[in-house]
Amino acid sequence: MKLKYHAAVSAVSSGILYAIFKSWGLSAALFITGVFTDLDHVFDYFLENGLDINKKKFFSFFYEEKHRKITLLLHGWEWLILLVIYAKLTDWNLWVTGALIGYALHIIPDYFYSKAPFRSYSLIGRWKNRFDSDVIFPRNRGYNPKA
Ligand SMILES: [Zn+2]
Repeated sequence: MKLKYHAAVSAVSSGILYAIFKSWGLSAALFITGVFTDLDHVFDYFLENGLDINKKKFFSFFYEEKHRKITLLLHGWEWLILLVIYAKLTDWNLWVTGALIGYALHIIPDYFYSKAPFRSYSLIGRWKNRFDSDVIFPRNRGYNPKA
């Protein structure tokens, strides 16, 4: 999903949860994981393009899926599971719970928006497919980069 939508979803969600729980920690953690999970795109971009920093090229590289390899180290159902376990272990600490909610609000819409197979959002699934973009994000899956 595009960054502007992640920012909007995260801002609205953190505002709603702040109104309910009055916790800056919960709201801040939600916003941070809701938006900054996409920082792993920077790693993938540099991996394939070197330090060729160009905002337009950067966004088209991902939105138009020009990558040949895709690691997406911060995107994974495995992280979601670990966050649920960690939140439970911390007795639903508000910072951890906020991070969990923000992460869920990031990765679940990413999954549906991309129309990719479920395994595409698994670290293990990508690793098993050698981070090959053509396998992880099949080009004939009905994804519309203009949406
Ligand atoms: Zn994302």
